Amino acid sequence: MTIRREDVLAWIKTYTGVIADNKDYLTQLDAAIGDADHGANMNRGFQAVVGKMSEMADKDIGTILKTVGMTLLSTVGGAGGPLYGTLFLQAGMKSVGKMELSLEDWATMLDAAVSGVVMRGKAELNDKTMVDALTPAVQALKTALENGQDLSTALQNSANAAKEGMEKTIPLVARKGRASYLGERSAGHQDPGATSSYFLLKAAADTWGGS
Ligand code: ADP
Ligand code: MG
Repeated sequence: MTIRREDVLAWIKTYTGVIADNKDYLTQLDAAIGDADHGANMNRGFQAVVGKMSEMADKDIGTILKTVGMTLLSTVGGAGGPLYGTLFLQAGMKSVGKMELSLEDWATMLDAAVSGVVMRGKAELNDKTMVDALTPAVQALKTALENGQDLSTALQNSANAAKEGMEKTIPLVARKGRASYLGERSAGHQDPGATSSYFLLKAAADTWGGS
């Protein structure tokens, strides 16, 4: 079972829809501990990505993901834009020339993508950021490989781990990004970036689960 190039495009399309549907929800989360723009930022970025679908259609997976990353970097401001841009660029660097991906490829790509986010944003686990959803998702993929899980189970486990990580951001005090300006008052709210990151892994599981 593999993830083909058209599956990667389908994942991006699915995620674009999820972001559009949850634009207000993400904005509400950001209103509580940030500046109420995370939904709008992500939606602007992915609408621009969808505008490049025909240009990406016949490209390899690395080129597709690098195009997504560059588009996010150039259209989304704030913290989220550069961080999601980096995530996709790094995933693209690990899939140059590939027309399909194994579970191992995907684990390697997500690992590099999350390392890129960590390098760029300098957030550690439990700083109440997207890293709190992404890091457990990578770990779940590694465990899946070690245990010889099939692709569909591995993707589901990685989405579940991201969801758990997202939920665990609720009691945390933010130590990075705008939310950190609130100090203790940031506790009791779910991090918007961790939420959009969970949606990304969930979209992968939903789109590729039957691949
Ligand atoms: P901004 O904070 O500039 O308004 P967004 O609202 O689009 O940008 O994104 C906010 C999200 O970005 C946060 O919820 C958090 O998950 C993530 N974030 C902010 N700073 C960092 C960082 N240094 N490292 C990782 N993620 C971060
Ligand atoms: Mg914001």
